[in-house]
Amino acid sequence: MTTVILLGPPGAGKGTQASRIAQRLGIPAISTGEIFRANISEGTELGRRAQAFMDRGEFVPDSVTNPMVKARLQAPDAAEGFLLDGYPRTLDQAHVLRDILADLGVDLDVVLEIEVDEDEVVSRMLKRAQEQHRADDTEPVMRHRLEVYHAQTEPMATYYADQDLLAVVDGTGTIDEVTARIFAVFDAVEA
Ligand code: AMP
Repeated sequence: MTTVILLGPPGAGKGTQASRIAQRLGIPAISTGEIFRANISEGTELGRRAQAFMDRGEFVPDSVTNPMVKARLQAPDAAEGFLLDGYPRTLDQAHVLRDILADLGVDLDVVLEIEVDEDEVVSRMLKRAQEQHRADDTEPVMRHRLEVYHAQTEPMATYYADQDLLAVVDGTGTIDEVTARIFAVFDAVEA
């Protein structure tokens, strides 16, 4: 059983690294943003409730997000562990997650924070906007998502550092370089 939370600003490369980590550990990568996007393209009720918030770069309300995560973590493929990408994003969500995991009898193993400076993150998001045409990758929305990250998500790192769960990895350089740094953290945890 391995349970991992991936933290980092939008544009830090979390999605790419999440799938590599998940593959190495044999666990599902669960991205709340991906679940919302899939629901929007499928036209579900959940997607309908999330879309306006996402388009503005704001958080989808906890009343929508938390039950969705709780259900996802109870799916059979998460029984052997999971990686969470994009959740929790606030201290409130971190507290909800603590309760969900306590109910499931599961401990958190590692919270990995990918650190990338602001200019680099903006330039990566602009590049992604050209490649993927994500509705929330326009420059004003991007800037807003970064502000929200600094105000609400970044402080959460302290919460996990206080529990000795936080590992910070330098997210600059090539994708492979970042993966190598992340795997070194897991080598150390497993050793
Ligand atoms: P991401 O793919 O992680 O960048 O998330 C894209 C968007 O989905 C965010 O800007 C939010 O609008 C929404 N979202 C993703 N995860 C969460 C979450 N944990 N809480 C609230 N909103 C979320």
